[in-house]
Amino acid sequence: LHNQVQELKGNIRVFCRVRPPLNNEPATMIAPMQYPDDAEESKEINVQGPEEKTSLGAVTRKNHTFSFDRVFGPSSQNAEVFDEISQLVQSALDGYNVCIFCYGQTGSGKTHTMSSGDGMIPRAVHQIYDTARGLEEKGWRYTMEGNFVEVYNENLNDLLGNPDELDKKKHEIRHDMQRGKTIITDINTVELESPEMVESILERAAANRSVAATKANERSSRSHSVFILKLKGENHITGERSEGTLNLVDLAGSERLSHSGATGERLKETQNINRSLSSLGDVIAALGQGKDGGHIPYRNSKLTYLLQFSLGGNSKTLMFVMVSPLQAHLSETLTSLKFATKVHNT
Ligand code: ADP
Ligand code: MG
Repeated sequence: LHNQVQELKGNIRVFCRVRPPLNNEPATMIAPMQYPDDAEESKEINVQGPEEKTSLGAVTRKNHTFSFDRVFGPSSQNAEVFDEISQLVQSALDGYNVCIFCYGQTGSGKTHTMSSGDGMIPRAVHQIYDTARGLEEKGWRYTMEGNFVEVYNENLNDLLGNPDELDKKKHEIRHDMQRGKTIITDINTVELESPEMVESILERAAANRSVAATKANERSSRSHSVFILKLKGENHITGERSEGTLNLVDLAGSERLSHSGATGERLKETQNINRSLSSLGDVIAALGQGKDGGHIPYRNSKLTYLLQFSLGGNSKTLMFVMVSPLQAHLSETLTSLKFATKVHNT
């Protein structure tokens, strides 16, 4: 039933989440915004724009209201956010390909929501495991396989590989068009025999990133990480089979990186991030315009190419737009919310 309800709403949904001020961020640093009371399950966020002078010289702020499928205020917890997406996550057990993205500028809460020990990745694995257990009495047997990759500078890296080989070993993405399958060459795959194994996967990925030449958190804000969970099920009573994939994507920081001043590696990085985020928007927009089957520009970036079979067709997409409460981030916040509105309206 849940899947039917979702189908009626379309296959692309957008949620917004505002992170709370941190301990070192006093009230004077916080931008004027109104978000719903969490109890209300609201769909709107209201942001006062930066200060402007009117023609008469008075100072005003423009009022911007955005609406999404759901808005989570700063007091929301990861558990509560997960509750809202658990049905979507579980549809991967029914054979759907699901993509969940966290989009937003650096410091807006993407990693906290997606990849922290309390975030969506471990929660999704635990819940899928429990549900699969429950389906055993109906004859289902599932295997769960995990990959964790990073797209950095339009190159794909294996976050579960040997740290010495990061940025050195080349991995290719191949599509088996007939079977709708994506293969990444020379990649480590972990079979999750127990849900606790997700912790060691997250640790390995973190270790891999921390040995990279660029400082770990800098690198993670400039690369996309993709946790891929493949779920294969076989029902030994009815003979049915199912194959679904859950992709959990922590995107590179969306802050507009100015080209001016950046040179060499930095300039290349900047251009790659800008290009891949706009390609993602283009692909989602093309799918939303019903171009499925027509030309979808998957090949314009590594990320969309990697996720080709999980975007469009019979797949489900959810984008979280993450919002920082800081005054200093206001103009980026508005840019992010506008991007997310475009995605929402396609
Ligand atoms: P990003 O990945 O978008 O750069 P992070 O997830 O690293 O941002 O968040 C920035 C900081 O804010 C981190 O210290 C993180 O722990 C904290 N943070 C983010 N979201 C929340 C939240 N919902 N509740 C409490 N702290 C948060
Ligand atoms: Mg991050």
